Amino acid sequence: MARTALTRGWGRVLHLLLPPACVGCGGALAPGEGRVCPGCRTRLTEPSHPRCPRCQAPWGTGVPADRPCPECQDWPASLEAARSAFVLSAPADRFVYALKYGGWPEVAGFMAARMVALLTPEERSGPWVLVPVPTTPSRQRTRGYNQAELLAREVARKTGLPLEHALQRKEGGGTQVALHRQERRANVEGAFEAMDGAHSRLRGRPVLLVDDVLTTGATGYAAADALTVGAAAARVRLITFARSLPQEDDVHP
Ligand SMILES: [Zn+2]
Ligand SMILES: [Zn+2]
Repeated sequence: MARTALTRGWGRVLHLLLPPACVGCGGALAPGEGRVCPGCRTRLTEPSHPRCPRCQAPWGTGVPADRPCPECQDWPASLEAARSAFVLSAPADRFVYALKYGGWPEVAGFMAARMVALLTPEERSGPWVLVPVPTTPSRQRTRGYNQAELLAREVARKTGLPLEHALQRKEGGGTQVALHRQERRANVEGAFEAMDGAHSRLRGRPVLLVDDVLTTGATGYAAADALTVGAAAARVRLITFARSLPQEDDVHP
């Protein structure tokens, strides 16, 4: 842990000493460009149309609009819908990495602005509450922060929506990386629980769940289950910065 903290510390020192480089490509930045060059801003790709109205999985052309979506047909009703600003290809993956391992507030601000653009006028002004997907206590200690919380805080700052820490994640389960669909589901089943007091804060209210990446949705609906069952939230929609693309054989079964 000490080594991780030291590495992170050096990363921040270098970040301050070196001329600013684009988070997406490492290229030099002109003054006023923030942390992202114009080229990377153009290369960020939204999930293409036609796409699933519930989870935004790109469907490819010629697919009947009423067929069940292979990505979200098994999601429980507790997770009503999911939206992502971009697909998880270059350079969006570099932003996710930078946020996870660098934690720069400028990166979170840029990413959160794109997530705010996903919100409907009703969600921006209504009784919606932002809830970040928590990480395990040990990962939070090692990293020093939770990347989903950094994003949720920025979304809250930009919209004025309230942010509630309503969930906790149990230890164990390991990382979701490199797990297959069924394994991911088993890995997060029952991983979240509503915190003490979450019921009185969220009962009957609609929730915007915030995370950095959507992969299979398993994390999202495990968290949504805990919010609707444990905290009596009225409904849950997930917003993420990026989503991984479905496998080819999932898109064309
Ligand atoms: Zn760039
Ligand atoms: Zn879908």
